[in-house]
Amino acid sequence: MNSFPQLILKSGRQRSVINQHPWVFSGAVKDRPKAGPGSVVEVRDNAGELLGYGHYAPESQIICRMFAFGNQVRAIDEAFWLERLRHALVYRRATLDFAQISGYRLINAEGDNLPGIIIDVFGKVASIQVRTMGAAPLMPVLKSFLQKEAGITHLYFSYGKGQEQAEGWDGEAPKACFFEEYGLKFNADIAGGQKTGFFLDQRENRHLVREYAPGKSVLDMFCYSGGFSVNSLAGKAARVVSVDVSAGALDLVRQNAALNGFADSGHEGVKADAFNYLKEMPEGEFDLIILDPPAFTKSIKTVPQAARGYKEINLKAFQKIRPGGLLFTFSCSQHMTTDLFRKVVFGAAADSGRSVRIITQLTQAPDHPINIYHPEGEYLKGLLLFVE
Ligand code: SAH
Repeated sequence: MNSFPQLILKSGRQRSVINQHPWVFSGAVKDRPKAGPGSVVEVRDNAGELLGYGHYAPESQIICRMFAFGNQVRAIDEAFWLERLRHALVYRRATLDFAQISGYRLINAEGDNLPGIIIDVFGKVASIQVRTMGAAPLMPVLKSFLQKEAGITHLYFSYGKGQEQAEGWDGEAPKACFFEEYGLKFNADIAGGQKTGFFLDQRENRHLVREYAPGKSVLDMFCYSGGFSVNSLAGKAARVVSVDVSAGALDLVRQNAALNGFADSGHEGVKADAFNYLKEMPEGEFDLIILDPPAFTKSIKTVPQAARGYKEINLKAFQKIRPGGLLFTFSCSQHMTTDLFRKVVFGAAADSGRSVRIITQLTQAPDHPINIYHPEGEYLKGLLLFVE
């Protein structure tokens, strides 16, 4: 094994690395390596014992993202990374029904032991987010893997802050990025849209909405490109109203509805702020409400404000939903823990005075795996509630 510059931890700060947590915080470091941003470094405890390898980010609070643990690594070369990528594909083949799904997350950063890399696949198109300097040098091996082993013909790269290239197609742009999911068609808006172009993490949850939709009057709040709305239409909902503050999002919902033959379904798209819409809508108009807001907090410091936001929208939904209604409520803020989210929803239910039962608890789709040593990877949580 080659040697790399050494990052030495302070005495007593090695426990989380021994437990395979992939983040080393700057406060845990005794001696910084003589290395530039993005370099591979060895992480050693205060006694000099080798604990593993990571990518160095001297400017960041997470100063090193570990990708290999222990002292048995033979080499960190192309074959090493190729094996990681293949493991990610094997995992998808084991957990997804590729006969029914052609839009999936192939690489989920720490969840696949590939920190800094997110790849969503839509048919033959890959939308690649490169979030760290350390991940950037892996792009040639990744590109060759996607083309030769994952059937990809078009690649879109989006580089994070502090990196040279911003974003764009590697070569020609495809005409569309169609993909399928349980018999429905969607088009991902990769270059113009949010995140990688489509929220694949909600796949199983929108499939569940389809099962509950027959005859229902559905409000899809924070609809973006309409995954929940199109599933409601496919589930023969009596009425579907999709609300988003972005006009572009409502165009995407219309396109995705039309792709599935619902252009003339009477589907209603409304451009509005969620807080106002929920405040002003009459009581008893909807009997299935989906609340899937953007992350209200991206840091631990603003969790209390975020909790107030979640409470307010859930309270309004509880107050207005028709008796016997179903509420699908979500939070995708990593800092809003499952427990805290449940407490907030509990508080909203209590304030509304309605009787509320938890039918089931919801989470991110299996192609967004959570590395058991990195609980922070569990970001999407939801509850399906029956409101008497
Ligand atoms: N439910 C979607 C994903 C939602 S992403 C899906 O399954 O694909 C969050 C969406 O909330 C974005 O489209 C964003 O435009 C919208 N949004 C953000 N703030 C909003 C607000 N105050 N009112 C209404 N929509 C809002």
